[in-house]
Formats: sequence, C-alpha cells, structure tokens
Amino acid sequence: MVSDITLNGVSYAFGANTVLNHIDLHIDAGSVVALLGPSGCGKSTLLRLLAGLTQPAAGEIFFGGRQVARAGWSLAPEARDIGMVFQDYALWPHMTVAQNVAFPLKMRNLPRRECEARVSQALSRVGLRDFAERKPAGLSGGQQQRVALARAIVAEPRVLLFDEPLSNLDSELRESLCLEMAALLRQLGTTAVYVTHDRREAEILADRIVHLSAGSVAADRLISSSGEFA
Ligand code: ADP
Ligand code: MG
Repeated sequence: MVSDITLNGVSYAFGANTVLNHIDLHIDAGSVVALLGPSGCGKSTLLRLLAGLTQPAAGEIFFGGRQVARAGWSLAPEARDIGMVFQDYALWPHMTVAQNVAFPLKMRNLPRRECEARVSQALSRVGLRDFAERKPAGLSGGQQQRVALARAIVAEPRVLLFDEPLSNLDSELRESLCLEMAALLRQLGTTAVYVTHDRREAEILADRIVHLSAGSVAADRLISSSGEFA
C-alpha cells in the first residue's frame, strides 16, 4: 500500500536558527517528489522529520490519514512503514549483503522462505543477485548504494525517503544509477521523496520538483517527461 503525505505548517529550529518555516505541502500517493535546494536550506531536516528521526517544533505530518508527527511528538521511524537511503549507504560491515537487505524484515515475523524470496527479489531489482554472500567492504560505492536501495525496498514500504543518495559517487556512475532508480521507482509505484542539490538528477527522477530556499517552499513545479532525457 502506498500513502500520500501531508505537511501542515511544519516548522523546525536549531536553537535560535529557524531551519524550516511553516511548510505546507501535499505529496500525492505514488508520486516521486524531489526536494531541491542549495546546501543548508533545510532539505535533510525536512526528510528527517518525514522519517521520524526528529520532531517538528510546530505543525503536523500525516501519512495517509494517519498523523505521524505534531509539535513535540513523533511516531518512531520503525513504526512508519518507510524505507530510507542515505548518502553514506549506512550498511552494517559485519553482515553480508543478504543479511543487510533482510534486516527490515526481521521484525515482521515472516517465514524464513518468504524472507529469502523477498531478499532475492530486491537484490535482483538492483542488479545484485550474485552478491548476496559478499560483505559490503568488498563492493564498490555504487554497489553498496544498490544494497542500501534493496534494503529500503525489501519490505515494500509505503514511503521511500532518499537523502542525496548519489552524491558520493563519480559523475558517470551517478548518471547511470540515477536512470536505474528512476525506472525502479516507476515500477514500484511507491511514494518517494528525494532530496538533492542536483537539478538534473531531480529532473530525471521526479514527477515534481519542490524548491526549498532558507526553510521555505520557493517554487513547486511538475515535470512532464519524468525519467526521460530531453
Ligand atoms: P541541507 O540538507 O539542505 O543541506 P540541513 O537540513 O542539513 O540542510 O540544515 C539546515 C540548517 O540547519 C543549516 O543552516 C544547518 O547549519 C543547520 N543544522 C543542521 N544540523 C544541525 C545541528 N545538528 N545543529 C545545529 N544546526 C544544524
Ligand atoms: Mg542535507
């Protein structure tokens, strides 16, 4: 099941520094929205609020009809049915690729055979079917990020959150992985919020680009030919 996302008057501050200033935003179920803006404009903070890693100072956040955050309260990340991909992959080095990908299924009490089938399907989707028993340290940066992507989708979450997942990769790899992720997101149909400072990446991936500037929505536009090059 996918879900829409609604932010009503969401604000956040680090001490006296207001980082997000009364954000109102509705994201349609199944859409891919890029949050675009320069470093320091509040993109990661907004994503962390969607993930439940921090709480808003004001406002409310809803996933579907369900409130997941309000001033001073936040539903825990593991209770939100989300998948996340970060810039630094955040894989567990002591676990194999398959164990890393299986991790979000741990709490679900699925039969072992179903876990294995899901892990193998997720690894196939990111082109890493033959890497299940490897350790992350033996993989390239691009491959490690594919593992993180497989881990994010394995439990079929209702929302996918990305924070500059391609920033650590060289430009050629960035472009090819970006195109692959665009295709994968279309195929999955999951609601996705994708933080980036790269306009081209946003245009390739997203149905819609929300420009953040100094903690406010500065522009909001639909992308007509998402997933394609002009
Ligand atoms: P972006 O992801 O767009 O680069 P962030 O959301 O990370 O921006 O940061 C927004 C603002 O919040 C910046 O001014 C940054 O300096 C400030 N900030 C981020 N993290 C912290 C922190 N842990 N403590 C204090 N200020 C922070
Ligand atoms: Mg950031």
